[in-house]
Amino acid sequence: MLMHFPPQLPDRMERFYVQYIEDWALCNGLCMRDIDNSHAVHAPVTMFPTPFSKSGFEEALRIQCAFNELYFHAATHEEWLLGHLEEAAKHDDFTAKLIQIHKAAKAGQTQRLTGGLWRSDYIVNGSRTSLEGRQVKQVEFNTVSVSFGALASKVADMHEFLSHASRSWTGHGEVPQNTALKDLARGLANMHAGYKVAEIQHRQATHKTSTSAVEDEDDASIMDDPVVLFIVQPDETNVMDQRLIEFELVKEHDIVSYRISLAEVPDFVVRTNDNRLLHNPSGREIAVVYYRAGYAPSDYPTDVEWNAREMLESSHAVNCPSALTQLAGAKKIQQVLTDRSVLTKIAPSLSSDTVDRLMKTFVKIYPMDDSPEGEQGRYYALREPDHFVLKPQREGGGNNIYGEDIPEFLQSIPTESWAAYILMELIEPPKITNRILRAGKLQSGRVVNELGVFGTVMWDRNHNELLMNEQAGWLLRTKLQDSHEGGVAAGFGCLDSIQLMGPLKDDN
Ligand code: ADP
Ligand code: MG
Repeated sequence: MLMHFPPQLPDRMERFYVQYIEDWALCNGLCMRDIDNSHAVHAPVTMFPTPFSKSGFEEALRIQCAFNELYFHAATHEEWLLGHLEEAAKHDDFTAKLIQIHKAAKAGQTQRLTGGLWRSDYIVNGSRTSLEGRQVKQVEFNTVSVSFGALASKVADMHEFLSHASRSWTGHGEVPQNTALKDLARGLANMHAGYKVAEIQHRQATHKTSTSAVEDEDDASIMDDPVVLFIVQPDETNVMDQRLIEFELVKEHDIVSYRISLAEVPDFVVRTNDNRLLHNPSGREIAVVYYRAGYAPSDYPTDVEWNAREMLESSHAVNCPSALTQLAGAKKIQQVLTDRSVLTKIAPSLSSDTVDRLMKTFVKIYPMDDSPEGEQGRYYALREPDHFVLKPQREGGGNNIYGEDIPEFLQSIPTESWAAYILMELIEPPKITNRILRAGKLQSGRVVNELGVFGTVMWDRNHNELLMNEQAGWLLRTKLQDSHEGGVAAGFGCLDSIQLMGPLKDDN
């Protein structure tokens, strides 16, 4: 069906178009800090919103709440979860350390509520030459530090603006609005509200046994505007994506945030005797700890950072996410959940129809342990690696091993440690061409798109009850086909939005 994409701009229009993009981005916060952190540059973006299967897009949005529910179940089946990570933890220090933090903090973990801003990532599985046969297949499910919600909302707005500024490419397909920024901020606001309710109940319960004036004063201070604590990387360049959420929290919900790194926690956070967290120096109570760091080993260069994580985790504050919830997003857990019998056992609340739809988004994922399935995985990894990607238990891009590099890599590490990896079938995206503007320079070429759908969740740990479960907007990342990884911040990919195409006759 391929339409003429990307559209050809009339002669001498390109210059105006590029200027529109750069200035729109700078005016509206579609930016990042540059590497030396001194000023803002426009985020890398596509010139045009990429055509995307309407049915695939809509299905990915529709199924988000089911994925939220599934991972809620995974994150609350502690024994099951840790059991599946045991082998990986033997060979992967980072996984082992997160488990250790979870266990150490558990005794003091007095908060009733756990929160999550999550993202499920998909690539359309299509034929080599067109958008046909376009079913979304899950790349991974992220339960920690999901990024680009705010900037993705801005890109959709920018493409909408450009469609007015240059009429040359309008009329191909609908550019859907993206509410990720508002939705993610609302998710945090709901956690903040949940904390206040839980705290009032907690204090009323404990108040009955105490009448001291000091505690009365404490009771009063709870309503004195608790804050959200953003935990960020000290050298973060993707600052606007986070700041926009902070600004939205103030504007729409009257909630203030403070941002610090894990290393700064001892300086800026005080824990009270009853395990509440106070921001120092403002003295304001911390309702929600929102992690935009802490997902990679490099976020914990010393014990100071690990101790900080443990302290935040063992408190009343709603952790978004808890260490256990972060672990539920491990690649190993994603692999285990592709088995229908495991999935239905762990998430009995999902209807059989819903399970069918979840299963449709999975490609084959093999363990690399010495189970019979693992033997099969090892066979493919060593003998027929071309259609596979090997993944360790890591987040953040740049960690995977692809195709023919897999055997050599495996041979370079001890066989016992293979169990810490999973082997995933490669999803074959349809090939499409687009133009990318990065640091003021245009690049053209075949691109691959990855759709992310955000979800917001919160549950009561005491009753294993989901109190919030929402789909929260989307993200399209686009990378030139010759780069394996799609990390925008890492410099491989760019932000995009969507033109919905279809229904086409073979669109299912
Ligand atoms: P990370 O946690 O590092 O983001 P991902 O599983 O998302 O790890 O993999 C990183 C990138 O590798 C993805 O954004 C995608 O571009 C590519 N990738 C991962 N799995 C697949 C797959 N099964 N098929 C095709 N590409 C994949
Ligand atoms: Mg990813």
